Amino acid sequence: MSPPVDPINAIALPPSRADVVIIGAGIIGVAAALTIAQRGHSVAVIDKGHVGCEQSSRNWGWVRTAGRDPREIPLVMESQRLWADLNRVTGAETGHRKAGIVYLCESEREVGHYETWLKEVAQYQVGSYMLDAAGLERVLPGASANFRGAMYTPDDCKAEPAMAAPAIARAAIAAGATIHEGCAARAVERKAGRVSGVVTEKGVIACDSVVVACGAWSRLFLGNLGVDFPQLWLLGSVLRTKPLPGGPTVTTGSSTFSFRKRLDGGYTISRRGKALVEITPDSFRLMADFLPTAAVMRREITLRVNGRFFEELQRKRRWGDSEVTDFERLRVLDPTPNDEILDEGLDHLMRAFPFFRDLEVAQSWGGMMEATPDGVPVISAVDAIPGLYVSSGYSGHGFGIGPGAGRLTADIVTGHAPLVDPTPFRLDRFPRARRVAA
Ligand SMILES: Cc1cc2nc3c(=O)[nH]c(=O)nc-3n(C[C@H](O)[C@H](O)[C@H](O)COP(=O)(O)OP(=O)(O)OC[C@H]3O[C@@H](n4cnc5c(N)ncnc54)[C@H](O)[C@@H]3O)c2cc1C
Repeated sequence: MSPPVDPINAIALPPSRADVVIIGAGIIGVAAALTIAQRGHSVAVIDKGHVGCEQSSRNWGWVRTAGRDPREIPLVMESQRLWADLNRVTGAETGHRKAGIVYLCESEREVGHYETWLKEVAQYQVGSYMLDAAGLERVLPGASANFRGAMYTPDDCKAEPAMAAPAIARAAIAAGATIHEGCAARAVERKAGRVSGVVTEKGVIACDSVVVACGAWSRLFLGNLGVDFPQLWLLGSVLRTKPLPGGPTVTTGSSTFSFRKRLDGGYTISRRGKALVEITPDSFRLMADFLPTAAVMRREITLRVNGRFFEELQRKRRWGDSEVTDFERLRVLDPTPNDEILDEGLDHLMRAFPFFRDLEVAQSWGGMMEATPDGVPVISAVDAIPGLYVSSGYSGHGFGIGPGAGRLTADIVTGHAPLVDPTPFRLDRFPRARRVAA
């Protein structure tokens, strides 16, 4: 069951022309639209479902610098700066609060893992540091388990997934963007090799530039254009509790659970370190690309063969402009959460923090994360198709980096000086994505 998302005033019919069309109204698409509109370009955002209906409303709401790939640190630091001003810029509540993030360590191996990360990012002012057991008790009292310590990032933040993308979308509309829900993109039109329009289920939008910000669907959409975007799906299961007065306010993750205090007084809880990877034909097609990361993450992923293999096997990978597509058939990707994994997470949490023993579950949901082989997003032009851009592959951590990633996407599309060096996010770092099939 989908978590609730704040509604926006979308317009049913898309325009016949816009300078830029953004496909996907998740946090990335709407954040990019906000900047593009503020710079005076016409921009239309289309979504097959509605604003924030997929990953951007289903996530844990962590806005973190802690534990990031060093290549992302400059961008996430800019994002933190943008988040801090977002309630003012949008004139709305995004739930953004500085609450700090604690990563608990149960073993010396985990302590070593975070100490290594601190050395890797030593050149940046990330503000993270290690706590011993006594320090942890000061920051996060009430643990009954014996943790060896923790990594603490006091400046890290949180925000409300149900509120943030809609708030940014409304600000983008106020700046001149148009947003169209229930409007799937089927294909991209080209004239003399360069982008000239987007074919939607509600007609063609002529345009100069297209941004593919389709989240989990980017590989399928780009595949129809001949671009082999390496991306696999991972199923996350999440629950929220009814309001639970008191309790920890610092966002916390251990190897077996995570929790974040919500604005409504409840908690968002998950079983950390156990994402389900459902084996699909793409698992085999992309095996060589993903094997190195899968080997490092082997403790955190559970492989499963189920009906999705056959669903994906039957999925059409190429189609014509006039065909009804899977984007229209599956308006909102709303996977069933895995109750077994959620119960395991709750069990670990209640044993470690007895405070949570009285919680009442209000709702649970599934969210399909998507990942690139190196776990770093793609924010890039597609060199072989002038006018085509990709902003996707956020690999389970695109919410926190969303405002900065949207700004960087807008910079690349509008030719402004980039917010940060975009080189680490280039599409052509993946050899398979360099060729464009006819
Ligand atoms: C369970 C879970 C927990 C997570 N926790 C965190 C966290 O704590 N912190 C963090 O930083 N990140 C987290 N993430 C990751 C984060 O949510 C995503 O990286 C981020 O939301 C990606 O945003 P997006 O805009 O790229 O994609 P999405 O939000 O998925 O948006 C893509 C949109 O594109 C639309 N679309 C797709 N194809 C088409 C088409 N052909 N035509 C029209 N529209 C189309 C979809 O309907 C969708 O609305 C989590 C993700 C999950 C699932």
